[in-house]
Amino acid sequence: MPELPDLVVLLKKLKPSLEGRLIAGARVHEPIVLRVLVEGDFGRLLAGQRIICLERHGPFLHFGLDSNDLVLHLMLAGRLRLAATGEKRLPHEAFTIDLAPSGGGGVGAGGGSHGSDSLSYGDEKNMGKVYLCPKGDFSAIPGYKNQGVDILSPAFTWERFSKLIEKKRNQARAFIMDQTALSAIGNAYADEILFEAGVHPKTPCCYLTASDRRKLYDAINAVISWGIAEVEKADRPTEEKVRGHLRVRNRGGEACPRCGTTIRKAGVLGFDSFFCPKCQPDRTGRGLDWSKLPGPSPSGGASST
Ligand SMILES: [Zn+2]
Repeated sequence: MPELPDLVVLLKKLKPSLEGRLIAGARVHEPIVLRVLVEGDFGRLLAGQRIICLERHGPFLHFGLDSNDLVLHLMLAGRLRLAATGEKRLPHEAFTIDLAPSGGGGVGAGGGSHGSDSLSYGDEKNMGKVYLCPKGDFSAIPGYKNQGVDILSPAFTWERFSKLIEKKRNQARAFIMDQTALSAIGNAYADEILFEAGVHPKTPCCYLTASDRRKLYDAINAVISWGIAEVEKADRPTEEKVRGHLRVRNRGGEACPRCGTTIRKAGVLGFDSFFCPKCQPDRTGRGLDWSKLPGPSPSGGASST
């Protein structure tokens, strides 16, 4: 569920309430998501540690604790909720971290007073991963160390992007989703970015003109900022998925909001991709002419993201 805009808004909501808080303990309901990389029991290891910082690292959420680091990779269906202890459990709740009550004016960015509350992690697919690591050692987390340039950081410049895409021969959608190059674009926003840029998802990067590349770079910035603003505006509980604003993702068979052509769904290297065949023509001359196929697309249903 969480893509970059979701994570940015989630972090904004959780950070002030969690930083500086003392962990009272943890209750595990579904251990399959846990990777405890230090000796001991998850709950007992967490008890008594303070959450020093909460940051995002690409698609990962990193909780810096006194003696360990806790890293969450929410993948497709992981969700977090901070609520009063004892509130109804999240569906498919895997574990709950109980926080000790904190007094007014306490440490941390929150500063205010908090009652007894708990951070719950739910995951209906149990695909997410939660790592408890030795302090400062992220080596056992797949993909953590080799994240590419964070697309929300000042380092994500046009020059950097041009250099990254320059010699690439893979398809545009695969390239923008390659986290070792760009950190981090998921399925839903990849479709929105390509739509905004007018680029067919299967276009090999080497077929993109200089103007296409510039449009793609601008679209990444514009679409992610728009996504953050929309998720923030929707102001839904942190465990809910906000997708109503998306223009092509999961809209197969519907009319393109720009030109009215039927939105298509195609598989791109094993992932469903949604696009408008008119706004995003295949200019390589190698693919199908999607705009001439009879519509609406029978395969244009919803996908999981
Ligand atoms: Zn269109």
